[in-house]
Amino acid sequence: MCPRWGGLDNSFDVIVAGGNVAGASTAFDLASKGLRVLLVERRSQARVGSRSCGDGIDRYQFEKLGLPIPRGEFILREVEHAYLNSPDRKVRLRGETAGIAIDRFGLNQYLVRRALDAGVQMADRTEATGPIIEEGHVVGVHCRPSRGGDAFRVLAPVTVDATGWRARLRQAVPADWPMTEVVPHSEMALAYREERRRPEPVEDLLVEATFDFEIAPQGLYWVADRTETLVNVGIGMQWVPGIPNPRTQIHKEVLPKYPGLANTTEIRSGAGVIPNRRPIDCPVGPGIVAIGDAACQVQPMTGSGIGASMYAAGLLSEVVTVALETTKTPTMEDLFPYAHRYHTSYGTDQAANQMLRMSLQALTNAQLNRLMGSGIVSEAEIVSAARKGRLDLSFGKKLKAATKLLGEPRLVRALKRMQSDMESARDLYTRYPEDPSGLTSWRKEVKELFDRAPSARS
Ligand SMILES: Cc1cc2nc3c(=O)[nH]c(=O)nc-3n(C[C@H](O)[C@H](O)[C@H](O)COP(=O)(O)OP(=O)(O)OC[C@H]3O[C@@H](n4cnc5c(N)ncnc54)[C@H](O)[C@@H]3O)c2cc1C
Repeated sequence: MCPRWGGLDNSFDVIVAGGNVAGASTAFDLASKGLRVLLVERRSQARVGSRSCGDGIDRYQFEKLGLPIPRGEFILREVEHAYLNSPDRKVRLRGETAGIAIDRFGLNQYLVRRALDAGVQMADRTEATGPIIEEGHVVGVHCRPSRGGDAFRVLAPVTVDATGWRARLRQAVPADWPMTEVVPHSEMALAYREERRRPEPVEDLLVEATFDFEIAPQGLYWVADRTETLVNVGIGMQWVPGIPNPRTQIHKEVLPKYPGLANTTEIRSGAGVIPNRRPIDCPVGPGIVAIGDAACQVQPMTGSGIGASMYAAGLLSEVVTVALETTKTPTMEDLFPYAHRYHTSYGTDQAANQMLRMSLQALTNAQLNRLMGSGIVSEAEIVSAARKGRLDLSFGKKLKAATKLLGEPRLVRALKRMQSDMESARDLYTRYPEDPSGLTSWRKEVKELFDRAPSARS
């Protein structure tokens, strides 16, 4: 058996693996409640958070979740409006208040510092390699130094998997625990972005995304000014076989559409994976909880995960604190309220949004042009449906759709179905079971609903 780690106090209440937005927020919230927390991060403290990002805080997500927007030097500017373009770029829909442009690395560094200031101990440059399981409970984590060296173990009654979309710990628990759910690549997006510098400052800052399934199969590309001279250009595509090289698409297809970007210089680039779907069915097991990308807590249409992770961190820390007050070895039942509270709140938005994403992805560029140009759903409504997961289609609008889209009955049917599928998903997540006994039948319903959903292949 590996030795315990001698360099740190071994008596922790919670081990959090992964020190980015989900892990650092969770560690902070738990420590603020008086728990002894160890944060295990494979990178050095100075490098945590250097990741590919659209560099935006979705204001709606924070407002909806009742979260204060973090403030600090990492805030670059308020973004008044974001625009959504049809594939032919003839229709440009203006959304509601969009959000805040941030320095993502600065935000993550701030979150780690905040956790350490609250008393969290950090084992950086340390990789969590797997859970330690005794008598059917996770009781700690196997670790090894990221740059080689002897393996060791750390122990605690609760372990949190915040290792991102690869979910290193939850994927390594026994296969019959529901939390091992495998997320197929087709339910993730591959996103690539470049940070580019403009030679001269611009006055009119732009934030816009364009659906174009030819340039970005089942996805979109975006141009977002972060400051007068820094612009973020990116592309996101569903991770299905045969997708084109995103960098090539940006350089060959996207940059030429923006003459203003011709003389910009690339200063940074990177790709990443976004689990853009509903949250995993069950993010808890005996002595273990998953959060953030490891639990697919991301808004499926916009790919926003910062607010969802920070919200989940608050729920998780409340549930874990209560569990540890009553038992030394929290069971799946003890930790289940975290799953219930997340799924019945933001989970409903995510599920409805995944339906919207799948319904839109089943359309062609030509159909999207027709739909967005038809005026059936107003500007704000389409953009807000993408963010809120609700599509308001009154009887009058359905009638208007039937008239405006005369000759395209398939599109009218798709629109009606989109609305009812979104409502069904929302309803199902509202009925998430209160304890694990209802999980099997609920999961069956989820599978049936999403198996029936439109897809790009149908
Ligand atoms: C290109 C792109 C653009 C995005 N843009 C936005 C945006 O503009 N706004 C927004 O809200 N969201 C955005 N997202 C989504 C958002 O970045 C994620 O949802 C969020 O970062 C999830 O945080 P996390 O902490 O769960 O995971 P991650 O950010 O993936 O962090 C996981 C952490 O765990 C560490 N780790 C991994 N494995 C181990 C291990 N075995 N042991 C120890 N440590 C480990 C990693 O080093 C990392 O620090 C974007 C995502 C991508 C890919």
